[in-house]
Amino acid sequence: MNTDRQVVIIGSGPAGLTAGLYAARANLSPLIIEGFEAGGQLMLTTMVENWPGFRDGIMGPELMGELRAQALRFGAEIVQGDVTNVDLSSRPFRLSVSGTAYTAQTLIIATGASAKWLDLGVDKQLSGRGVSTCATCDGFFFKGRRVAVVGGGDTAIEEAIYLSKLASEVVVIHRRDRLRASKVMQDKAFSTPNISFLWHTEVRDIKDVTRGEVTALVLHNNLTGETSELPIDGVFIAIGHTPNTRLFKGQVELADNGYITTHKGSRTSVPGVFAAGDVQDHVYRQAVTAAGSGCMAAIDAERFLSGTGH
Ligand code: NDP
Repeated sequence: MNTDRQVVIIGSGPAGLTAGLYAARANLSPLIIEGFEAGGQLMLTTMVENWPGFRDGIMGPELMGELRAQALRFGAEIVQGDVTNVDLSSRPFRLSVSGTAYTAQTLIIATGASAKWLDLGVDKQLSGRGVSTCATCDGFFFKGRRVAVVGGGDTAIEEAIYLSKLASEVVVIHRRDRLRASKVMQDKAFSTPNISFLWHTEVRDIKDVTRGEVTALVLHNNLTGETSELPIDGVFIAIGHTPNTRLFKGQVELADNGYITTHKGSRTSVPGVFAAGDVQDHVYRQAVTAAGSGCMAAIDAERFLSGTGH
């Protein structure tokens, strides 16, 4: 395999694969580096009903399989491996992938963001079986049912409001007695009749792994020390995301919240380095917006290489 590339894309979620598809069709023979969370967050969901073009929805892993095959069909190459080191100090950029050195004239960072879990173990085990980190992805499955949302930030409250239109009842579980979410979101949630709040409450366990579904939460009140059980059909964990930017710290400009700063489309602070998808977007975070920004990054890279961009 040629290790000296025009375009290297790190990440194989909707952003990375779409960037690969567009770069391949522009004859740039892109190399996509697929990490250990290959396929991104869609691999963790079941039915995706908001990807345009599939009126009956498509399973997340199947959609990613199709996207991957489409990128390969046009000549993108995919290697699996862990990017251990990136040097963006001069062009060509240098990368080390599972011990192999690559150089890249342009780099598209599409490493995504990972939802934070509760670190119970059981929450990951029941992921897609009643535990979710994305209300817009999975809320529909809880139509008319009772769900909980864990967290007190904008994401949690936005998810609770979204879910209140589908679920019969939404219980927000927060570890303190004050929300971090913006006032306007708080007001909206407080005035929604089927949203209730459990304050000073932490989730200690999720039942029932043996049945492979969510039936109840074991809760701990950190003020009174009391433990209780809340019967529930589903739980949405909304305690924040972590952008996967560890490799790029100190090399490209990051915003205060750790996300990569982009300007004029997908451009980062380093000429020739572009970013797409959730690694640079903490607001929309949808598969389709990630794919759209992957397309933008490939076009920006192509223009950069032909001397008509940047
Ligand atoms: P935040 O970091 O703002 O909030 C995370 C919430 O989860 C906090 O309430 C925190 O509690 C709680 N939490 C964190 N870890 C744990 C844990 N281990 N157990 C229990 N609870 C935990 O993340 P968000 O994803 O909500 O928001 C990220 C950024 O995106 C923010 O800047 C937000 O404003 C923005 N955003 C904006 C939106 C909008 O404007 N429409 C929509 C969504 C996000 P505690 O408060 O005690 O720290």
